[in-house]
Amino acid sequence: MTAYSLRALVLRKTKLGEADMILTLLSADGRIVRAVAKGMRKPTSRFAGRLEPGSVVDLMLARGRTLEVVSDARSVDLHSGLRTEYERSTAASVVLDVLDKIAVEGQTEERLFGLACATLSAIERADPGRLRATVTAFLLKAMAMHGYRPHLDSCVSCACSARGRIGFSLEAGGVLCPTCGGSAPQMSASSRELLSWLLASTMDTIAGTELPAREVSETFALMRQFVTYHLPARLKALEFYANGGGL
Ligand SMILES: [Zn+2]
Repeated sequence: MTAYSLRALVLRKTKLGEADMILTLLSADGRIVRAVAKGMRKPTSRFAGRLEPGSVVDLMLARGRTLEVVSDARSVDLHSGLRTEYERSTAASVVLDVLDKIAVEGQTEERLFGLACATLSAIERADPGRLRATVTAFLLKAMAMHGYRPHLDSCVSCACSARGRIGFSLEAGGVLCPTCGGSAPQMSASSRELLSWLLASTMDTIAGTELPAREVSETFALMRQFVTYHLPARLKALEFYANGGGL
């Protein structure tokens, strides 16, 4: 078996047999990789504590018959701050779950790894009151990288400037003027401004800025609907977070 090195973020771990774990990883070039960490559940395992979801690691992997096999793991950033407080760990779970569903096996999206690391670092450090805006920005940016960058400058249907209380088309991924809006979810002009600002700002800036609570909850609700509409899998961590699990 030839071994190779891989920097990756651990998204998920699943028990396998008596003592092993299957890891779902997001590689630095934005691919989903699955690997077995043999004996990881034994208390004496050299992998213990290094391969928790949210950790960035440098791995040595050997190609197995069906899955890669981890032969060595060195911590790059454990992001241990994510696991010390409930609010941070539920916010981080949303990020890891969405990455797991948005990254396509065999397909690369390099920017996803950078976004993931910046988001997790921001969640570790942000004032708890700013976590929801950070999660909202992550959903928005991840969807943009996935090919669903929301169109916010004009009505996505008739191209007018769309003033006042506007709609948001989940299907077309953009704002709708009052004439075209129909039954689409509604949003305020200030929420539209917030979405544009979140799209243009870095995670560090977002996590460090006091933002208006009403607009943060409106944009979060909208992004939740948008992500759920376009990703085929059920996003359990996002549902839990939206239903108060993150408060
Ligand atoms: Zn219109």
